[in-house]
Amino acid sequence: MRNVRNSWYGLLFLAVLARAGGGSVKPDVEVCLNPGGDAAAVLRAESMATRIYGEIGINLVWRRESAGVDSSCVVITLAERTPDRERPGALAYALPFEGGSVVVFDDRVRALGWRSLTTTLLAHVFAHEIAHVLQGLDHHSGSGMMKSRWEYSDYKEMEREGLAFTHDDIEMLRRGLELRLARNLRRSARDDVNGGGL
Ligand SMILES: [Zn+2]
Repeated sequence: MRNVRNSWYGLLFLAVLARAGGGSVKPDVEVCLNPGGDAAAVLRAESMATRIYGEIGINLVWRRESAGVDSSCVVITLAERTPDRERPGALAYALPFEGGSVVVFDDRVRALGWRSLTTTLLAHVFAHEIAHVLQGLDHHSGSGMMKSRWEYSDYKEMEREGLAFTHDDIEMLRRGLELRLARNLRRSARDDVNGGGL
């Protein structure tokens, strides 16, 4: 029964992807970001991250409201005045196994990025951490978007073309999204039952 249900979720997910392939609909992923930081730079970074995900067939939908307990939102908190002892050297971290939240050390991103890079770097940090949450993994790749630590050459590449997800990264995103969709369907089915609706 479990297998039958899982296959059905898989088919539904494939149907969503098929529609995405038709050019009109991509699977939506909601991202809830707390207001903060340099608002204009954050907006530009959001739209850049949306473009990065659009290229791999995923539609990011950004929201400002805080997520409810049952929300499927990827919650991003922009942190300021990060103490030196807090994950030294890290620009951000994700908790993919604990509800899927992300903390971005906005002050460190601004301090590291030279002026023309800051927004691009913030967009890449968003894209990297959102991928951890969607994949449900803390996996890193040897190059590109999911590299564990970017180096100077990566920053230069961000400015030129932008970093890309590898084929394996995209495959893990596809599998992770499929699981998320199944989880959300199970949750709404449970809510229907608990709600006593028809
Ligand atoms: Zn990472």
